[in-house]
Amino acid sequence: MGSLIQDLTVELGSERVRSGPSELSLYRKDASNMEGSTAVVCLPETTAEVQSCVRIANRHGVAFVPRGSGTGLSGGAVPLDGAVVIATTRMDQILSVDQLNRLAWVQPGLLNLDLSNRLQHLGLHFAPDPSSQQTCSIGGNVANNAGGPHCLADGVTASHILAVQVVLPDGTVTTLAGEEPEPVGYDLRGCFVGSEGMLGVATAVCVRLTQNPPGVMTMLLDFASVEDGAETVSGIIAAGMVPAAVEMMDQLCLQAVEAYIHADLPVDSAAALLVEVVGLPHGLAADVDRIVAIAHEHNVKTVRVAQNEDERALLWKGRKSAFGAIARIKPNYYLHDTVVPRTKLPEVLAKIYEIADRYELQVLNVFHAGDGNLHPLLVYDAREPGTIERVRLAGEEIVRVSVEAGGVLSGEHGIGLEKRDYMPLMFSEIDLAAQRSLRCAFDPLGVANPGKVLPSPASCGDIHSVPEGVWI
Ligand SMILES: Cc1cc2nc3c(=O)[nH]c(=O)nc-3n(C[C@H](O)[C@H](O)[C@H](O)COP(=O)(O)OP(=O)(O)OC[C@H]3O[C@@H](n4cnc5c(N)ncnc54)[C@H](O)[C@@H]3O)c2cc1C
Repeated sequence: MGSLIQDLTVELGSERVRSGPSELSLYRKDASNMEGSTAVVCLPETTAEVQSCVRIANRHGVAFVPRGSGTGLSGGAVPLDGAVVIATTRMDQILSVDQLNRLAWVQPGLLNLDLSNRLQHLGLHFAPDPSSQQTCSIGGNVANNAGGPHCLADGVTASHILAVQVVLPDGTVTTLAGEEPEPVGYDLRGCFVGSEGMLGVATAVCVRLTQNPPGVMTMLLDFASVEDGAETVSGIIAAGMVPAAVEMMDQLCLQAVEAYIHADLPVDSAAALLVEVVGLPHGLAADVDRIVAIAHEHNVKTVRVAQNEDERALLWKGRKSAFGAIARIKPNYYLHDTVVPRTKLPEVLAKIYEIADRYELQVLNVFHAGDGNLHPLLVYDAREPGTIERVRLAGEEIVRVSVEAGGVLSGEHGIGLEKRDYMPLMFSEIDLAAQRSLRCAFDPLGVANPGKVLPSPASCGDIHSVPEGVWI
């Protein structure tokens, strides 16, 4: 047996085994504010190669971390303690498409938007549409059970995955579930979706495909108060309507986005809702009228219905590029991801503004309002002494007020490293023990992405201590 890097190089060749300083620096981070350390990055192209990487890591007693595009915001793909990074970037092919049964087998490194773009000619798409869809991978979506603006009506990733081929932590290959709509026996596919790289590496995914809607209408509604906007959201759902998307941006966010995309956004308003309805073209105007009537009950200021595809695309560009636009305010941000009951949105948002004020931080809110999935963005400049500590403390309070309001720790970004130590806010020791037991059934030695999701103590013969990630 050679060294870890030598053994990996024999399998993959030197071009696909990276251990230079710039690569190691790049791959020890994801899009969160955490970083760890890695000894080597592997770029396999096939299931068999992933299997070899896992087996070699096992032989050398080193943990491994599956990685897609590294856009995760909770530190899930951050390697700890020098773990081997298995990046699926080069596994980016559509393996087969079954148009009749509306499903496709794809490799895990395929980018979310590339999948839908490549299916455009068939009138089909992959429904989960994270705002990062231009860059995030299907494997990462599966592992984080990603959501997106259009998941309000369509459901998050879990609703769109039929089967997953997995290299298990001991290097064996299995397929969880199959092409049939409902698996027989234990729902192991369900266990794997959202498992954040801790149950093995997905090497092929069978995705459900959704028909492109025959018609779509998009509108922007703005309000003098965040409460009016939030109550409009509750009113729409209470009226029995489930629009394709209901997204909210608050004033600071509208201002940042407007400065970036120049879409004539209502920058003087406290909040705006981007609402989209889909369906048969003849029914859409009636849906829009009903939503506008509800918005009027809650003092809507102006109603803007996109007049053509260009205007619709511009409004969505504003929503989806909000995080990038924020760089105009400060160089760093800490993006939260909690969920609260929709009816608690006004109350929790008021608390979030108060928390940010108290810590002398700016906060922007841009979020999936229909799901109650909040994304408070604390913007800051890490170079200012003491700022990071204030950001962390404010972030912790935001998590606590969300959970106290009956919410949950994460809507879509996962727990990863970032929220691992908050798990006891939601789960009892018995709950956590059950989750650990499930992980142990897949990974008795704790070699797959250790140190994530489950707070210490590690268990089940875990050969790794639970290391800390470091804030950057
Ligand atoms: C600007 C921006 C906007 C975002 N908007 C959204 C949004 O609207 N909705 C949303 O849900 N998320 C959003 N995210 C977060 C992120 O894009 C998603 O979590 C995405 O699903 C991560 O995919 P990835 O390929 O980058 O995964 P990575 O970051 O590489 O990994 C994420 C997790 O998945 C695991 N993993 C990756 N690939 C595999 C695999 N093949 N097998 C097993 N485990 C694997 C990793 O170990 C890690 O735990 C956003 C991020 C950014 C930066």
